[in-house]
Amino acid sequence: MPVIKIVFFHFDSIEYSQALADAIQRMVGWPVVVEPIEFDHSYAYHPERHQYHSSQILLGIKNLIPTDQDKVLAVTDLDLFIPILTFVFGEAQLDGPTAVISTFRLRPEYYGLPKNSELVLDRMIKESVHEIGHTFGLVHCWNSGCVLNVSTYVEEIDLKNAEFCPDCKKQLDQAHLKLK
Ligand SMILES: [Zn+2]
Ligand SMILES: [Zn+2]
Repeated sequence: MPVIKIVFFHFDSIEYSQALADAIQRMVGWPVVVEPIEFDHSYAYHPERHQYHSSQILLGIKNLIPTDQDKVLAVTDLDLFIPILTFVFGEAQLDGPTAVISTFRLRPEYYGLPKNSELVLDRMIKESVHEIGHTFGLVHCWNSGCVLNVSTYVEEIDLKNAEFCPDCKKQLDQAHLKLK
């Protein structure tokens, strides 16, 4: 059976890794493994924005970890962007193998608020499940509680669930069947 591989780069808080893996496994219904990687991300840095281009990160991760049917979720604390947006919490290849999320703007201290590792983990789980949903070909969902609802601001992440709504769950199950 295919697996979801979680890889961390430029990321210190490995305390999160097991809880994140368990939650993703529960929500997505695929086995999750955490794999160590050596990844030089410097090529994706854009000095004029002091940020990293997330689509370029996705390509680098895809080249580094070839997959057959597996999915790869990269987790970093680097600030990510795509050219049309100020920043992104994450990005995924729709119906593809690779996704990335950033904790840079998930941490309350970024907004001048006290540290809260439980809240950061909760947001990481939602963003991870959201991006992994895209890798299974699922698009954004208008159902406000659904994990595939769009979140532009961090407050919107807090308002939604980590779960797929029944419609999205059905599509996810169909995508799983195709891949087994
Ligand atoms: Zn999305
Ligand atoms: Zn949905």
